[in-house]
Amino acid sequence: MSVSPEQQLRAYVEYFRDVGVVELYQRESPQVGMPERWRELLARPKPPAEAAGARSAGNAAVSSPLLQAPTAGLARPPMQTPRPSVQSSQASIPQARVESEPPSYFDTLPQELQAPMPKPVSFDALAPLPVEIVPAGQRVAALEAVRAEIGDCTRCPLAYAGRHKIVFADGDPNATLMFVGEGPGADEDAQGLPFVGKAGQLLNNMIAAMGLKREEVYIANIVKCRPPGNRTPEFAEASTCSQFLVKQIDIVRPKVIVALGSTAATYLLGVRQSLSSLRGRWYKTRGAKLAVTYHPAFLLRDPRQKGEAWKDLQMVMAELGLKAPAKK
Ligand code: URA
Repeated sequence: MSVSPEQQLRAYVEYFRDVGVVELYQRESPQVGMPERWRELLARPKPPAEAAGARSAGNAAVSSPLLQAPTAGLARPPMQTPRPSVQSSQASIPQARVESEPPSYFDTLPQELQAPMPKPVSFDALAPLPVEIVPAGQRVAALEAVRAEIGDCTRCPLAYAGRHKIVFADGDPNATLMFVGEGPGADEDAQGLPFVGKAGQLLNNMIAAMGLKREEVYIANIVKCRPPGNRTPEFAEASTCSQFLVKQIDIVRPKVIVALGSTAATYLLGVRQSLSSLRGRWYKTRGAKLAVTYHPAFLLRDPRQKGEAWKDLQMVMAELGLKAPAKK
């Protein structure tokens, strides 16, 4: 039986009416039934990207060794009095608040207008803490076993999204300090190592400014495969991959974990909060103390926030008894 285009259109309109969508064929729909507040919000013009960027411009009054170009060598230690170190895991550190990555237009809409987002589960809630500690001499083998378990992974859609290499981790399996980023970018995907592109150069500088070498820390990501176009990993991708990062953390047992950016903080802590609201205090995850700071890629886009990131790193240095290297 052939159906005319008009019949098709009528069926389409009736279908939408049946599911409660009305007036869809009218231009400039009066949005019948929509509360006034929603209409106002939907009519609100999208803020220009520049305005959002300017909003995030922070106070970089703190002299920071991170203010150098990403490729610069060892950074100079700060000249100002360092902030008091944090003794308790709950102590909060007074500091200038600056906005993190500017909220998207959709993030500014009220909850009822946002797509439902699954709630992330904290790394502590994902699996019981290990009863036995992997002895230092067995950590390389234990991590290799995790890598072998991952195999040529096809557990999530990132396996089919142009991935070249699975990026497991880099660094010392006995490190006291671990950095966790979001996911590999193009350089990492090509080399199979985390943080080897431009953001990685800045991370190397951050590590050097703390008086450490890259080989002395452990570096991993929330997802081990590159999300296409460097987009933020989806909930299902991050949740599928988390089990392996949990195992890596349990094997390495760092004293301190630094979550780089909001994706790492979201999944490690199991909270969806702005990065700026999470910075400046200690959390606990898998027996380690956890601090949150800006992602190096964000710092490359907005170098004015490097002073704030340096404050976060100083909090970590105080905890680990690290001293910034003397000026050469
Ligand atoms: N950004 C990340 O979050 N991780 C990397 O490994 C590289 C860039």
